[in-house]
Amino acid sequence: MRAVTVEPGKAGSARLQDIPEPTRPRGHLLVRSLAVGVCGTDLEILNGSLGKPPPDRSWMVLGHESLGEVLEAPASSGLSRGDWVVGIVRRPDPAPCLNCVSGEWDMCRNGRYTERGIISLDGYCSELFTLEAGFAVRVDTRLGLSAVLTEPCSVLAKAWEQIERLGARSHWRPRRVFITGAGPIGLLAALLAMERGMDVHVFDRIDSGAKPDLVRDLGATYHSADLPAAAAGADILIECTGSGALMRECLEGLAPNGIACLLGLAGGGRPDPVDLGALNRKLVLNNNIVFGSVNANRRHYQLAVEALLKADKKWLDRLISREVALDQWASALVRQPDDVKPVIVF
Ligand code: BGC
Repeated sequence: MRAVTVEPGKAGSARLQDIPEPTRPRGHLLVRSLAVGVCGTDLEILNGSLGKPPPDRSWMVLGHESLGEVLEAPASSGLSRGDWVVGIVRRPDPAPCLNCVSGEWDMCRNGRYTERGIISLDGYCSELFTLEAGFAVRVDTRLGLSAVLTEPCSVLAKAWEQIERLGARSHWRPRRVFITGAGPIGLLAALLAMERGMDVHVFDRIDSGAKPDLVRDLGATYHSADLPAAAAGADILIECTGSGALMRECLEGLAPNGIACLLGLAGGGRPDPVDLGALNRKLVLNNNIVFGSVNANRRHYQLAVEALLKADKKWLDRLISREVALDQWASALVRQPDDVKPVIVF
């Protein structure tokens, strides 16, 4: 069968390769791939700056945003042939830590977790893959191809859950949400904010094209200039770019009791001058919280499926800006102007 593979640590090593079909271990599903989404993490793996192959070889199958159709399932799984599933990305560490043992591997404490298509496990960008039944999430076929957004949306479902838990420390009725970055993560953050009835503002550098239109069509406000004014008074900040400079400016505008959730990963290596004393005064005197969030557990995938089902299907479909056939895989892995979410289809 065909699979898109990569040698982590080696830039430009991705290729379409013939690899043996998987044999289904007990308790696993055999799944036929329908689609794999491409995200910034994949691009970092492709440029050699992220990822780790399985212990016994130098390459791995790419792809962690999956959508597939069940071909074979163990009777005990509650799934059957023809069901659509999305594979969970992370597997608990073998130790296991307190969180992994409780099914909250997204909060792993010892860093010994593995991730399909990212860390030590094959990903999902192959014509067939196997999946432990406990790490398969059934998705509604009514979502169509946009069900491939379940994994990125799970990251936002977790972020929102964390924001709400932290917000419960006081009497808090958040209204204004400020989101930096109008890529898939920023747009899904905005979707979940709209579903919560918030006043949603999204900031990105570009001032025309698919992204501003998607923000406005969601009923949110789009900003591409005057960041300090746009960010001022935010009860919730969701930072999706990883830019240190953006983050600093937005934190300055955070409202009293406001919560900032950092989702974008900074590239590093470029020192950003920060007056930590001034930041201290801002955060302390305003009871602000700044926290980071990564990955998702099964509960978040289920919340993501519910959130996607509530969304306007036509809007969701527009997030998938390009459908690229498997034999054209390479073009899906190169960012193009106005790209939102490129998807490899099988
Ligand atoms: C994935 C997460 C993963 C993270 C770090 C993200 O792109 O969505 O599931 O934990 O990368 O590897």
